[in-house]
Amino acid sequence: MHSTMTPAQRDRAIHHLELTIRVMRDAPVRTTCAECDHFDQISGKCAQWGQIVPADARAAGCAEWREGVPF
Ligand code: SF4
Repeated sequence: MHSTMTPAQRDRAIHHLELTIRVMRDAPVRTTCAECDHFDQISGKCAQWGQIVPADARAAGCAEWREGVPF
C-alpha cells in the first residue's frame, strides 16, 4: 500500500533520510579483536593474520574485522 504525500513532504522525508544516512556513515564502529570472528579468545591468536594479537592492539582491532555469530 502506498501512502501519498505532497512534494514538499516527500522532499522533507528524503532530506531526513539523507541526514540519517550521513550520521550513520560517520558513526563510530567497534572493531575490537574480542568481538571479531577471527579471534581465538583462549589463545589470543588471530586466524586472519596467523599470529597472537599483542594485548595493546586488541582494543583497536583492524580493517579485517569480521562479524561473528551473534549468539
Ligand atoms: S587483528 Fe583484525 S582480524 Fe585479527 S582478530 Fe583482531 S580485528 Fe580480527
